[in-house]
Amino acid sequence: MSPQERADIKSKIINDLNFVKKEIADLQEKTAPIAPDCSLGRLTRQEMIQEQQVSEHALHEAEIRLNKLTFAFSKVDKESFGECMECEEDIPLARLMLVPESVYCMECAREKSL
Ligand SMILES: [Zn+2]
Repeated sequence: MSPQERADIKSKIINDLNFVKKEIADLQEKTAPIAPDCSLGRLTRQEMIQEQQVSEHALHEAEIRLNKLTFAFSKVDKESFGECMECEEDIPLARLMLVPESVYCMECAREKSL
């Protein structure tokens, strides 16, 4: 990995971190407890609860991604960054640019069905 490539991935991680943090803030608002007397508009209470469950699931996923990205950010300057944790091959740059929190190459990720 060239220093330029590493810098590109680092800024991608920072972008994604900001994006996920914003997503989490939005989802936290959506999953805030529903006040019993709040005006429901067109949605029934049941619909609001279903909506919240979807948001809670999304929030959970976003928090997992935040953890992974934070971990990737802490490692991005280390020599071992971009190596597959399983087979120690380099993870293709295109994959890292798309999913910078990847810790496995495509093949190992597929085997682990991640
Ligand atoms: Zn691998």
